[in-house]
Amino acid sequence: MEFRDLKKQYQLHRQAIDDAMTSVVSGAHFISGPEVSLLEERLAGFVGAKHCIACGNGTDALQLALMAWEVGEKDAVFVPDFTFFSSGEVVPLTGAMPVFVDVRPDTFNMDSGSLEKAVEYVVNHTAYRPRAVVVVDLFGQPAEYDKIREITDRYDMLLLEDAAQSFGASLDGRRTGSLGDISTTSFFPAKPLGCYGDGGAVFTDDEEWAERLRSLHVHGKGGDKYDNVRIGMNSRLDTLQAAVLLAKMDFFEEEMTACERVAGQYTKLLKDTVQTPLILENRQSAWAQYTICLRDGEERERVVRTMKEAGIPSAVYYKKAMHLQEAFRGRQVEAVPLSVTENLSGRCLSLPFHPYMEEEQIRLVCEKVIQGVSNDE
Ligand SMILES: *Cc1c(COP(=O)(O)O)cnc(C)c1O
Repeated sequence: MEFRDLKKQYQLHRQAIDDAMTSVVSGAHFISGPEVSLLEERLAGFVGAKHCIACGNGTDALQLALMAWEVGEKDAVFVPDFTFFSSGEVVPLTGAMPVFVDVRPDTFNMDSGSLEKAVEYVVNHTAYRPRAVVVVDLFGQPAEYDKIREITDRYDMLLLEDAAQSFGASLDGRRTGSLGDISTTSFFPAKPLGCYGDGGAVFTDDEEWAERLRSLHVHGKGGDKYDNVRIGMNSRLDTLQAAVLLAKMDFFEEEMTACERVAGQYTKLLKDTVQTPLILENRQSAWAQYTICLRDGEERERVVRTMKEAGIPSAVYYKKAMHLQEAFRGRQVEAVPLSVTENLSGRCLSLPFHPYMEEEQIRLVCEKVIQGVSNDE
């Protein structure tokens, strides 16, 4: 069994994807070809943002956003402690100081109470200026933007939505990618909308930031890339990747519906045995992961082993809290307790998940999870 079956998706949509790729190769317009701006328009329309700037990957997208805001040395940037490394990695890259914030034990997303305390700590005990919050929609579920927005407004901070895992999700009918002052996503192959290599995008309604982002992702270009008005990056989305994504957009919403079905089946079969994902009201998840929680590390070990013996892969997202990563040692403001993240990283487990999972496969995975839990010697 595959953890995320990308081969099956390709087999089902082979003709459309092959045609898209062949057309780019025949035209030989590999960098900034017409497919790139077509995709940008389509993505902006889909999420409901005025501007979309496609770029090299989801990490660059986050960095570009902080660069567009000129975040720097005197600034503190708040990041959830339970996320992929990129969400925090980009902060020191701009010279700013990361401050990790705890998450909710039931949704895995940023805890607004912890954020508020962390901001107060930075204001009262450090010389840093609270500048921005990176809000991650972990495993596909939109975070609590209403509560977080109240805090960013109060402290005059910017809100950066990291929608790398939540492309396609929505909150109160608004799509992710439109929930931050700037929002970013990733098209890494295993993300909800994945290309065939690295890819990413930045979204905003702000005209001036959009213009700056367009410049920053092509060497800080002015009139053209040989006229350079600022220090930027080389972070474009390949035309081939844009073409693949355009083809995949045609069946993306169908896939989202299928993901809802798979998640529903998992939850029905597992909810009496383990902690299943809680999706808050008025939200739709993009189901980048289906993540359960076991009682403790030992129980997780047993479940992983039982699944493995049956040929079923699983993954631990994430084994290590951000604040415990070696890379951040001595390079963070320790503002608040991060015990929820530490606890979750010891007992969470992500199960095989993709829109093309069959009912029988789901049943088998659940059977093995339940068997692993009850193998309590
Ligand atoms: C995948 C991911 C990223 C980075 O995306 P890349 O395209 O791999 O650079 C950033 N944030 C989160 C939460 C992610 O899951």
